[in-house]
Amino acid sequence: MLEHVKHVILVLSGKGGVGKSTVSSQLALTLKENGFKVGLLDIDLCGPSIPYLLNLEGKDVHQSTEGWVPIYTDSSKSLAVMSIGFLLKSRNDAVIWRGPKKTAMIKQFLTDVHWEDLDYLIIDTPPGTSDEHITVMECMREVKCDGAIIVTTPQEVALEDVRKEVTFCKKTNIPIIGIVENMSGFVCPNCRECTNIFSSGGGKALAELVKSQLLGTLPIDPRVGVLAGTGRAVIKEIPDCTTALVFKEIVEQI
Ligand code: ADP
Repeated sequence: MLEHVKHVILVLSGKGGVGKSTVSSQLALTLKENGFKVGLLDIDLCGPSIPYLLNLEGKDVHQSTEGWVPIYTDSSKSLAVMSIGFLLKSRNDAVIWRGPKKTAMIKQFLTDVHWEDLDYLIIDTPPGTSDEHITVMECMREVKCDGAIIVTTPQEVALEDVRKEVTFCKKTNIPIIGIVENMSGFVCPNCRECTNIFSSGGGKALAELVKSQLLGTLPIDPRVGVLAGTGRAVIKEIPDCTTALVFKEIVEQI
């Protein structure tokens, strides 16, 4: 039930561990802090980390006559979350499903969740281009999808992987909203100086290559790691840090 959703944005990455779920959750939290009504849909069936990142583990979703009722992060109901993680007994439970079952579940996620009115629905997808992505793209034919944000790290290996995402978006006619380069340098907790420990400029190079825009470069910031799992927005907790400022810029561009 996406008819009451104004904007749908996919978050993609070529491989796991680049910070895609961190970006999805902080993006949703930043939009919420900016006064928008936001939904966050986690379709990473094999590694659903959104319930953990938003401190919602153990919450139960239930069905109403209108469909699945998402979990709200607070009583203001400005951030609604749906994830396969809410349907598993524990975080360690594995989803071992073949393609058709995964496809059916994602279709249900896209059609049977009662989102109410949303300004933005952020969809956190699994890494790569798998069954889940193809299903989302098929469902998106009936829904207007604004486009995809691609998360990458500065290293070439990740960029090689991420180019496949770009090809996938082109083949499926999903516009690329822009690139987010994550783990771009390390912020020293003592002096706050940022050091490029990997190669730099990969996100910019990719953005130029695919004729898209670099939405922002996020440093590795241990404080962001600490906030993960608390469900708190970097923009609210540490508003003057580089990460918070970059998320502010990203939401201004989408
Ligand atoms: P993915 O969804 O791509 O698999 P995650 O968002 O789960 O990646 O991030 C992987 C790990 O890296 C997590 O422990 C997360 O807290 C950490 N992380 C991600 N981005 C940053 C960052 N900019 N600074 C510090 N830690 C980060």
